[in-house]
Amino acid sequence: MIINTVVEYKQPVKILYIEDNNASRLLVQRVLGSKGYEVYVANDGLEGITIAREQQPRLILMDINLPNMDGREITTRLRSIPHFANTPIVALTANNSPGSRELALAAGCTGFLTKPINVSQFPKQVEDFLQGRTEPLSETERAQHLQLHAQKLVERLESKVRELENVNKRLRELDQMKSDFIVLVSHELRTPLTLISGYSYLLEENLKRADKMVVAESLSNVAAGLNLGVARMQEVIDEIINFSRVAAGMLDLSFGPVSLQALFNDIDQEFSKICEKRHLNLHMGDFYHLPLIEGDGNQLRLAFSNLLSNAIKFTPDGGHIYVVGRTVGNIVEVLVRDTGIGIPAEEQGRIFEQFYVLGSIEHHSTSKHAFQGGGLGLGLAVAKGIFEAHNGRISVESERRDFDNLPGSTFHIFLPIKRQL
Ligand code: ADP
Repeated sequence: MIINTVVEYKQPVKILYIEDNNASRLLVQRVLGSKGYEVYVANDGLEGITIAREQQPRLILMDINLPNMDGREITTRLRSIPHFANTPIVALTANNSPGSRELALAAGCTGFLTKPINVSQFPKQVEDFLQGRTEPLSETERAQHLQLHAQKLVERLESKVRELENVNKRLRELDQMKSDFIVLVSHELRTPLTLISGYSYLLEENLKRADKMVVAESLSNVAAGLNLGVARMQEVIDEIINFSRVAAGMLDLSFGPVSLQALFNDIDQEFSKICEKRHLNLHMGDFYHLPLIEGDGNQLRLAFSNLLSNAIKFTPDGGHIYVVGRTVGNIVEVLVRDTGIGIPAEEQGRIFEQFYVLGSIEHHSTSKHAFQGGGLGLGLAVAKGIFEAHNGRISVESERRDFDNLPGSTFHIFLPIKRQL
């Protein structure tokens, strides 16, 4: 005889636990999981509300001290969703200071349990709430604590609005900085382009007169002018490409032993002409006594070049620039000091940000190393990115910005001698 049986598969009861502490989550998952519950966990309120909507748990365990929205706020929010109007929501918190139970119940919690949980009693406590247990709260207490809860909500709302306003302000500033950056880039590219188009025109005119002999000297002048324009365009483009690599964290560093002596020799050569032209005294210290450091020589040269380039730009003709180095334990410290216009104290944190150009961009001269010459506001951001990719850091010291008394600026660069993996 064949007996037809209908096998009923009992669905496990779903419980959601909103908790940011991993150890607490694991413990509750293990204790309730072993009793056949299906436990979902969420890290914070927003994730909790989403999971609650998706999984529709039969009971929610709620930590109170959570980032962003706290457990009471999440409970109040969940209670406003018709589906969760009667779902048991049990506060599970380490904070059992006077009033916190009442506050949680007034916010909409069904019960209040304290952490650490008692492993042997916990499943029974959860079962009771599933069976309809609710913790009592007198009407007067509820009214009192509801008012307190409402006050706390408004206070939090106010601080969130302020926070958002600040973020918004910061985003608007960034947006403005990016717009200024586009103006600067177009300006920096247009100037050499004008040079190139002028010289190309000259070349064309010269060649049109093919019957006459084109004087080699004039052709060589034209070529020099073209080269100058192209080189400047190349510099601007390289700076942007370099910056985007640093910003995207895509600096491809090839580490090896770097001699700071050799590096600063190169830099000395790179800037000697412009320093001579502007009567700037570049004092390079002695780096022979410093150990080789492990780094990417090309990138470090670029970073220091940016610092020197700034020192030159912001020091009037006839001023001094000093570059010295010393070893402090397993770190090399390099100082780049100038006798220039200085940097206002309130701007010192911001000059390392991308696109940040101090002062009005209309006043930027386009000639790269002239006093207050043009820049894209990327030099220091790139330098900082490179030093940090070497586990180093950069900071600045300057009294103020003063065009008359020239307080100068000092940049400190700290680089570990050995690469830190
Ligand atoms: P830029 O490429 O435009 O020079 P940076 O990121 O290198 O941009 O520098 C940002 C700002 O920091 C500059 O616009 C300048 O006002 C200020 N600054 C940087 N170095 C110096 C310095 N040595 N002396 C005075 N101001 C400086």
